[in-house]
Amino acid sequence: MPRKKKSPKIHWKQLLLSVVALVLACFILLLLNQAMGEQLPLPTAREVSAYLSGLLDELYGTAGIAPAPADVEGELVVHFLDVGQADCILIQTEEQNVLIDAGETGCGEFINAYLDAQGVETLDLIIATHAHADHIGSMSEVIEQFNVGKIIMSDIPAAIMPTSRTYETLLDTIASHGLHITRAVPGAEYSLGGGATLTILGPLEEYNDLNDTSVTCRVVYGENAFLFTGDAEQEYEADLLKRYPKSRLAADVLKLGHHGSNTSSHADFLDTVGPEIAVAMVGLDNSYGHPHAETLQALAERGITLYRTDEDGTVVIASDGETLTVSTEKQAA
Ligand SMILES: [Zn+2]
Repeated sequence: MPRKKKSPKIHWKQLLLSVVALVLACFILLLLNQAMGEQLPLPTAREVSAYLSGLLDELYGTAGIAPAPADVEGELVVHFLDVGQADCILIQTEEQNVLIDAGETGCGEFINAYLDAQGVETLDLIIATHAHADHIGSMSEVIEQFNVGKIIMSDIPAAIMPTSRTYETLLDTIASHGLHITRAVPGAEYSLGGGATLTILGPLEEYNDLNDTSVTCRVVYGENAFLFTGDAEQEYEADLLKRYPKSRLAADVLKLGHHGSNTSSHADFLDTVGPEIAVAMVGLDNSYGHPHAETLQALAERGITLYRTDEDGTVVIASDGETLTVSTEKQAA
């Protein structure tokens, strides 16, 4: 999908300082080496060149960014950003950009650089699935950087209303930009242009766990569908199954609920959604043990292909309305 790319900004001051530091470091190493009778393990030319290329990546803001989906053709492209043990998903059609969640606190620079590299100037929709920091952590920085259309969030029961600074900062940022929160209403449908639609499916009930306030949505383009459930857990999944027929939940791609935890993605839910591909958004060696062994086994038993951001890096899945093409950061490296 051709997209306008902005030129990256060059940080001349850091570039100059880094080159000076590198030259000084080389000089000191050479002096030390001479003083020690040339016994130091000096870096090879290849190592120096790898370091310089990494340095340029850092300075150009391209470090750690998955390649643009140049090798994936499609009118609907879904990027599952590798933001560690957290969610951040960019959905692009030829007309609109949608962001579901924005990682943990501290990854705003990475997310903004990634969105910038994909030609994003406006986020037509931002969905904050729920108020945990691994979903809204860097959302304020994203709102500061891009034009924003609508922000969709669910109602939170008073008994579990978060008081975290991250959540309060987000509400302040939304208000200070003159934006309003659009409440997630099950059944509400948003056109993403080119025939693609995003439908809100939940939450359907008031639950007593913040994970279960997650906004669930389904994106459909032609014959392909993607289902995103935030951190929704078993009771919520069961309610979705009760409320909707299979045709409203079926998806080719399922973003595994709650980072692949065994509290989500239960057998009945997987059987009804019937995905071909599942994506687990997880940090390497995360302390929760996500994705859990039970989830991996349930996926394997059903022949569902799993992509996981801790092993694959950023995962990009494109649809032309009939077929899906997957590209991963690690595969491209
Ligand atoms: Zn989470």
